[in-house]
Amino acid sequence: MISKLKTISLGNWMLIGMILGFILGILLNLFVADTFIKDTILVNNVFYLGGTGFIRLMKMLVVPLVFFSIVVGVASISDIKKIGTIGGRTILIYLITTALAVSIALMIASVIQPGQGLNMVGLAQGNVTTNATITDTVLNMIPENPFSSLANGDMLPVIIFGLLVGIILAKLREETDVVNKFFEQGNSIMMEMTRIVMKFAPIGIFCLMAKTFASLGFEGLLPLAKYIGCVLLGLAIQAFVVYPSLLVIMTRLNPIKFFRKFISVMFFAFSSSTSNATIPLNLEKLSELGVSREVSSFTIPLGATINMDGTAIMQGCAVMFAAQAYGMDLGLTALITVVFTAVMASIGTAGVPSVGLITLTMVFNSVGLPVDAIGVIMGIDHILDMVRTAVNVTGDAICTIIVSFKAHLIDLDVYNGRKSPTESWDDITEF
Ligand code: ASP
Repeated sequence: MISKLKTISLGNWMLIGMILGFILGILLNLFVADTFIKDTILVNNVFYLGGTGFIRLMKMLVVPLVFFSIVVGVASISDIKKIGTIGGRTILIYLITTALAVSIALMIASVIQPGQGLNMVGLAQGNVTTNATITDTVLNMIPENPFSSLANGDMLPVIIFGLLVGIILAKLREETDVVNKFFEQGNSIMMEMTRIVMKFAPIGIFCLMAKTFASLGFEGLLPLAKYIGCVLLGLAIQAFVVYPSLLVIMTRLNPIKFFRKFISVMFFAFSSSTSNATIPLNLEKLSELGVSREVSSFTIPLGATINMDGTAIMQGCAVMFAAQAYGMDLGLTALITVVFTAVMASIGTAGVPSVGLITLTMVFNSVGLPVDAIGVIMGIDHILDMVRTAVNVTGDAICTIIVSFKAHLIDLDVYNGRKSPTESWDDITEF
């Protein structure tokens, strides 16, 4: 029995936690009238401790995880110089597609309004503050004192400072060898800590679901379903409208030929929920599409880390969902801040399961949204993580094809099936 339980994956445990928490919450809401037992003992003590404790663990990770990862990510992009314009173009396309993705998500969620009808005002523990002007927001991005920004968890100045440290490390290379190593090892420590904290996710999710549904009852179901619908719609638009259109506009290549070859990579990303683990298969399939490894061996690993369009779509929808549930209006400045922070969050983390949820707390913080709402969507995040990872890797591949097309490093005969991949690019270097 115990050994059987051990074979259940973390993702499935999260699902189990969600279902059990939901059932218990609904039962409490329907059948336990004693407010002392229900609200005081269970909801405000047991579930509050388990749920909020887990959210605090996630918050604990954000600042060091994002800071180390941005520094290491940017420092390693020093290789850009080696491949010159290809590197610059790749990064630019990655940033633009992510900004587009989060904007699409914000639009969809403001039309569908998933958080409407979910009154979470009473459940909030944070403060909502979003009346800064654009000038203030830009000014506040420059840290007056980076250490106090780190200590206060002000993410935008932390990101800017991290970018600067990364750029300088890339420039000084040998001279700053020890510091480089320090950041690389710090990054590994934070990745491991993330994995450990996520092991507690099923308990956290169980408590958060029970707490939410004990208070809201069935009322909470429709908004959650609408949220899932928003994210899936956004992901579908990005994968099947935005990417094919980009491919046609920039290269005139046939997107159907791309999807026919690439679908297996999407399935692998879907089932593993990690862009990182999908890198080898992604490289393989791009070679079969005629892309030279000279480009893909750089752009695909880079994309797995800095380009997460699917994740950005989830974050855009989640922000709107929470803002609507808390009855707050996000002004233009707040929306621009969300786009910027989600793009930075995408750069600031490696492609491993559920990491988008952790950086979501940073996006919420950037506009002063209470992170409690994450507890509600966390329960159903596993399935969305699978789908958005498939979109993340598709984005990396599409950008790679565009960049290699512009650099004449894609064999169009191979792409169009007129020549076998083995006859192409004898410069193939193993990844
Ligand atoms: N699982 C995603 C990836 O690996 C990241 C996330 O959205 O959590 O690309």
